[in-house]
Amino acid sequence: MVRRIRVTRPVNSGFWDPWSVEEVKKTTPMPKLEAKRVCVICLSEISEGAAMIECPYCGALGHENCFEEWITMKGKCPLCRRTITL
Ligand SMILES: [Zn+2]
Ligand SMILES: [Zn+2]
Repeated sequence: MVRRIRVTRPVNSGFWDPWSVEEVKKTTPMPKLEAKRVCVICLSEISEGAAMIECPYCGALGHENCFEEWITMKGKCPLCRRTITL
């Protein structure tokens, strides 16, 4: 009796390209960008724990006093230009 050994092959073996798999392994994940908060108005960094205001539409961040001053003058977000009221 001949014992049949079933060779298991991946179903999509024809499409499997070992080099492309290797390529996938080589690509390193993007380094997580340091979430640096920059004020959209004065363009300087917002230090941790500083008072800030966020645009409810686009999420633009600004120092509380910068944003307040801007909105008082222009009445809109400096980034998306949608009307914001404080
Ligand atoms: Zn600012
Ligand atoms: Zn906005």
